[in-house]
Amino acid sequence: MLQIRENVSLKNFNTFGIDVCARYFVEITHEDELTELFLDPKWLQMPRLVLGGGSNVLFTKDFEGLVIRMNIRGIEHRINHEEVYVEAGAGENWNELVNYCVGHNFAGMENLSLIPGSVGASPVQNIGAYGVELKDVFDSCRAFEIAAHQIKTFVKEACGFDYRESVFKSELKNQFIITSVKFKLSLQPKVNTTYGAIKNELQNRGIEKPTISDVSKVVSQIRVSKLPDPSTIGNAGSFFKNPIVDAAQFNWLKEAFPDIVSFSAGENQIKLAAGWLIEQCGWKGKVVGQTGTYKNQALVLVNHGNASGAEIFALSSQIIDSVYNKFGVVLQREVNVF
Ligand code: FAD
Ligand code: NAP
Repeated sequence: MLQIRENVSLKNFNTFGIDVCARYFVEITHEDELTELFLDPKWLQMPRLVLGGGSNVLFTKDFEGLVIRMNIRGIEHRINHEEVYVEAGAGENWNELVNYCVGHNFAGMENLSLIPGSVGASPVQNIGAYGVELKDVFDSCRAFEIAAHQIKTFVKEACGFDYRESVFKSELKNQFIITSVKFKLSLQPKVNTTYGAIKNELQNRGIEKPTISDVSKVVSQIRVSKLPDPSTIGNAGSFFKNPIVDAAQFNWLKEAFPDIVSFSAGENQIKLAAGWLIEQCGWKGKVVGQTGTYKNQALVLVNHGNASGAEIFALSSQIIDSVYNKFGVVLQREVNVF
């Protein structure tokens, strides 16, 4: 029997540590419970919010609706010649899944080590780090269609994966609840060390032929040294996406700011490092009341104690304005604001 709780604090359910209240709150541990839940039309009529680990959300006010916390567990794998299919419940912790795969020598996810959050949220923004994106290892996912009361399978092509984007964040937003994700990994490890920081750290450790376990350890170590741990400083990782500009705008920027940090992002497309743009506007490590940006990475907004979501949101707006005024580039928020 589903337990629906009322007036639940979400402080422990978001990595910013914002203390807002959910009018209703339910935890889902099995796909069938979603069918049971939505048999009651009451839940179809009110605002709903699906929550995994709460590491990519900013709550700016109490949530006057139903929070659906995904806690479906279980990891299984099936080997098929050189490939392996790994399927995990939406409520599994992402990094525990990565550890499972690295531990079994299933290659492909190691660059995505130590990303916080749940498996179910991983397709939503096509999580990415250190030169690898979820779409590189994604096979399919199962998702509950709220209006139709049924489970649908999404293959990769149906997910509209793009840079920190998918259909679940855009045209199908709020329509589907991901219940499990299937990944296609390789039994023939081929490591990806193109990212400068990985290469340097492997060199420092004298590792010439890295295994996937080496890559996972190095990525984890870089992340620990560079990013704030949400259990001590509230944050949701990168607050903004890295902006993509066309060659004409880039040439103008490069002339005005010769040190600008940029990477090719396809034909006529250049990705700018948002952290660098924000730092150049003087924001790195700045403290504004109980909020601010992290001392080692200006792209990460932090809660120094008792900040409200509204204060963090206001800071993000100030940052957007100053980057626009200096560079003419509009930053987009990556974090989901409620
Ligand atoms: P939540 O924050 O709970 O939810 C995020 C969004 O997904 C919400 O809109 C929610 O409604 C929706 N959602 C959640 N679960 C489901 C579901 N089952 N079905 C449908 N919709 C769902 N991200 C990266 O891409 N790369 C990184 O390297 C990275 N590093 C980070 C480092 C730190 C320190 C932190 C705090 C965050 C970082 N993030 C990174 C952001 C975050 O970890 C990812 O976006 C992660 O996938 C969010 O998972 P979650 O379970 O916490 O999602
Ligand atoms: P970083 O290494 O300081 O690099 C700054 C930015 O430059 C990154 O955002 C990255 O873009 C880009 N970049 C660096 N080297 C690149 C290369 N060889 N090819 C293409 N792009 C390159 O970044 P960081 O903040 O420490 O983060 C390291 C990685 O973890 C990045 O991939 C970042 O996306 C990921 N991360 C994400 C979050 C999040 O919440 N989304 C939080 C922390 C870290 P990309 O971001 O496009 O890779």
